[in-house]
Amino acid sequence: MGKETTRRGFMEAVATTALAITLGRRAGLAAQAGLSEYNWEDYSYVYLVDVSTCIGCGMCVQACQKENRVPDGFFRTWVERYRIGEGGRVEVDSPNGGMNGFPANILDFKVTKGLFVPKLCNHCKNTPCTQVCPVGASYTTRDGVVLVDDKRCIGCGYCVQACPYGSRYLHPVSHVADKCTWCYHRITRGLKPACVMACPVGARAFGNMKNLQDPVRKTIATQPVLVLQPELLTRPNCYYKGLDKEVR
Ligand code: SF4
Ligand code: SF4
Repeated sequence: MGKETTRRGFMEAVATTALAITLGRRAGLAAQAGLSEYNWEDYSYVYLVDVSTCIGCGMCVQACQKENRVPDGFFRTWVERYRIGEGGRVEVDSPNGGMNGFPANILDFKVTKGLFVPKLCNHCKNTPCTQVCPVGASYTTRDGVVLVDDKRCIGCGYCVQACPYGSRYLHPVSHVADKCTWCYHRITRGLKPACVMACPVGARAFGNMKNLQDPVRKTIATQPVLVLQPELLTRPNCYYKGLDKEVR
């Protein structure tokens, strides 16, 4: 082998190695991001709240605020306390979204039943919020998540008015519509939403209806579950176990 041939061979080897490193780094970054093998068609996300388990500690709300940098006074998820008394009296409160728990204040009626009800965007199948958006900024992903494209949103607030669950708000700084995304940046990387991870009693669960072995799917298929305000025909993808008829 001549000197020139050896040099050319060396240069080719260096180039091949550099290419391999570049491709490897790209593959590594993609794998790290978890997106290289993500196939939207394999997922149809679903959320389950077990009201009988929730203790109203507010750790889920705190986790959401941190994870999604939710501005003070606004909530992507919140917890409501229902106190139900004789004669059908109902008192509902959610001080600071239930973020710091609930005060033991006394009511002027005898409470016969109490519930803590975590709430969030229901990621409905029939979405009044996306239907009213004049610029198509609110949309549903192929894996069933309702999102807002903040580059397209013009901040008209129509979707905020259209959502019957109060799940949306206009961000006070960016002036675009904002709401729960089920932590889309996490779930597309195989992680659970921050609120689900933070709950100390497992009152919140997240699953995939396209996975036959998924425990949330199994619960929804085999146990009594309800959605909020089914009469609205929004067909929520957020289900509740242990819900009382007084809860709206
Ligand atoms: Fe839209 Fe409200 Fe349903 Fe969420 S809960 S998908 S914001 S209508
Ligand atoms: Fe309820 Fe769990 Fe949220 Fe605490 S963290 S308020 S128990 S859902």
